[in-house]
Formats: sequence, structure tokens, C-alpha cells
Amino acid sequence: MDNFLTANIKKKKELYSFLVTVKKRIDDHNPLYNQKRESIYGGVYKFLQESEYWSKDEIETYQFNQLKKLLVYAYTSVPYYKKTFDQYGVLPENFKCLDDISMFPLLTKEMVRDNCSDLTSLNYRPSKLKASYTGGTTGIPLRIIRERLGAESKESAFIHNIWKRAGYKRGEPLAVLMGAVLDSGHKNFWIKSGRNKMVMSSYRLNEKTIDDYLNVIREFNPSFIQAYPSTLTLFADLISGKTEKVFPNLKALICVSENLYSWQRELLEKSFQCKIFSHYGHSERVVLAGECEASSKYHIQPEYGYVEILDKNGNKVKEGETGEITATGFTNYAFPLIRYKTMDYAKPAGGVCSCGRNHQLIESIEGRALDYYVDASGSLLPSTGSIMLVKESCNLRKLQFIQEKPGEVVLKIVKNGQFDDHEAKAIIQSLHDRYNSKISFSLEFVNDIPPLQNGKTRYFVQKLPLKF
Ligand SMILES: [Zn+2]
Repeated sequence: MDNFLTANIKKKKELYSFLVTVKKRIDDHNPLYNQKRESIYGGVYKFLQESEYWSKDEIETYQFNQLKKLLVYAYTSVPYYKKTFDQYGVLPENFKCLDDISMFPLLTKEMVRDNCSDLTSLNYRPSKLKASYTGGTTGIPLRIIRERLGAESKESAFIHNIWKRAGYKRGEPLAVLMGAVLDSGHKNFWIKSGRNKMVMSSYRLNEKTIDDYLNVIREFNPSFIQAYPSTLTLFADLISGKTEKVFPNLKALICVSENLYSWQRELLEKSFQCKIFSHYGHSERVVLAGECEASSKYHIQPEYGYVEILDKNGNKVKEGETGEITATGFTNYAFPLIRYKTMDYAKPAGGVCSCGRNHQLIESIEGRALDYYVDASGSLLPSTGSIMLVKESCNLRKLQFIQEKPGEVVLKIVKNGQFDDHEAKAIIQSLHDRYNSKISFSLEFVNDIPPLQNGKTRYFVQKLPLKF
């Protein structure tokens, strides 16, 4: 009898799950849904044009109201926050000014990973939600829940608003060269998505395929290419020696998802002969920041989320000091992330940009938490300087620093033809000088360094646990 019941329940669950999938498919192709998505996009984009040059006071008032609304909502509709706010003895009514946010508990990636269902709002039916997965590069895979209707439209409106500073207008031909997306059985490395977008996989980019990539991109004739800086760097290496502008109508390269180092910016400007525009964001969608027409400092988008840059004791750092980017996103009520520790580090900058936007500024993104070496005594040393030394020394195809033991780092290198022993010795010497011999570097020559599952190439792989 028990078995019969269990089998019956299982069948009903399967049927329900099947019906939900069918409904999602129908909805996705429903013109009414597309109209709603368009209307959400249009509303957010219009609002961002109106709020772009708000005064500091207007920004603070907006952010206070958004935080208050979110805290009240989270406490009443999201089980995780009801539980933790009660544990901390802090209620939404205690939030009376922006600085009061520091009373509320911080949220780590591990907490998000372990409390996925409790972080999901009770106000949504499951059929209205979708899950996306992220976190491959930090080693903490996360499942993020979003609204099916609207989440992508809102995000696109925010992104397009920032890209406007690089000259982008919706509908202009855009080539996307990122991890992605194409089934392993897919014959081509590219796929057209609508009339004005082409998505390419970065996995197949190498010296054998570079001409195919060049031909396909030239035929598409994009005004913009969106890509990871590491992919564009490899692309630039593969086309080095070409003096003509490789893509004649290219207005800008839009660099996303990774630090853009100054040596990369120079290399890309020289190789592609166009504007280089960088913006910073995450799949978790709590913080979005972009350069502007006047400055390469990142402007934190105040309508997207509230950002705190905190030291290891949870206090705000001063201008010029480095702290962890910790943010509260305003755009996802299905799965609110409040005071979420991103594991990215940045230096806040003072002053106001000459572009006229009163946004909070970031001097530089200092690198992800994993971008630190551990010396033999357990101290952390920023790894970002080491890559510049190596890049200055020679012309390498690919490289990657890997640390598995304190005080020791292996530099994997994919050589090009001209690389010799003399250069190898010079690299090791300059690295030892840079780190006062606190780190022992050794070289390992390999045939390839494959990209990660998400298509990015990491310059640093830290396998040791880091304590800040
Ligand atoms: Zn500016």
C-alpha cells in the first residue's frame, strides 16, 4: 500500500513538473510576455535617464527608501531574514539612516549556498521563478533565483544605460565573445541571436582558428564587441603584427567580468584601435559600476544597489584604503541579497567626477579575493603586480600562476616560438625581486591552459584557504 502511495505521489510530482516546464515554454514565446518584458525594459531605462544626474541628496534619499522597503519586505516575506534579523535583535524599524545598515547581518557566499530555499521569497509561485548558477571562479557554486518575467529586462536596461557612455545604442550590431553557450555538438563557434547580436564561444579561440574568428566577425561587422579582458588579450596576441584596423566599424570593446589591467588596456587599444570601456558587475547582481566618458574610475550605479566597502572587521574603509565590496541589490525581490560579501576588493575614491554624475567612485578594483599569494609565514601578498612583470618581460601566448603550498608559486606558460632560457631566467629573477624572495617561483611549460567552465581564463589560481 505504502509503495502504491509513494509511486502515486511521485507520478503526480513528475506530472506537475512537466506542466510547469510546458507553461514556461509557452510563456517564453507568448507575445504578451514579450510586450511586458519590453515595457519593463522601457520603464527602467527611462527612469535611469531621469536619475542620471541626481544630486548627492537625491541619491541618498532614493537609496534610503529602497533599503527600507527591502528590509521590511525581507523580514516579512523571506524566511532567512526573519530568522537572522530576530537572532541579531535588529528590526527594519531600527533602520533610520543609511549608516544604520551596519546593524544588519552580513551575508557570505557560503550562507547563500547553504540557504537557497530560505532566501527565496514566499511571495512568488515557483512557476514565476527561474534559477541561474554562478561562482565557478571563487570555488563556491551558487544557485541564484530570479523572476522569470522581468529580471533580464531590468538587467539589460541597466547595462545598456552604462554602455551608452561608450557610444552604444540598443540595436547596434554587437558581437559577444564570452564563455558560452554553444552545445558541444554545435558545428560553428558562433550563433546569431536576432539581427544585431552574434554570440561566439571563446573556447575554440587559438592560433589554428583565429582566421575563422576574424572572417566571421568581419562579415558580421560589429560596432561593439563584448568580451572578457583575458579573451581579448589572447585575441590581441593572436593578431599581433597586423597594422590595419582589424574590424573597421568597431567603436568600442566592452570589457566585462574581470579586472582590466592597465597593460591590457594599452595592448587592446593598440591592437583593436578603438575605445576600451570597462564595467564591473556580477551574476549575483548586487553591484554595477562602469567607467564614464571622462574617467576610468568606476561609478557605482546608485539605483542598482547599495554598496559598502568594508575592512575585515566590517567597518567602512577610508579613501585610498582597500576593502571588500559588500552590497545590497535593489532589483531582485524574489531572492534578496542584503549586505552580500562579494569577495572582490576595491579602493574607494573621493571627490566628484567631472562628467557631472554624483555617483560613488571606485579608484580601482584591487582584484578578487583569490588574487593573493600566501608566503611561508601565512601573510598575504597581492598577486596583481606579478602579471605585469611577466607581461613586460616577454611575449607569451598564455600564462597562469598557481599556488598550492605556502611560499611557493608555479607559473605555467604556453610559449610562443621566440621564448628562450634567457627570458625564463629574467622572469624568475624579476618575480623574486618583486616579492623580496618571500615567494619562491618556478616555471612549468605546458601546451595549453584551457579556459574555465565559464570561458574565462584565470591568471591566478589560489588553492590555499585565505584568511583576511
Ligand atoms: Zn564620470
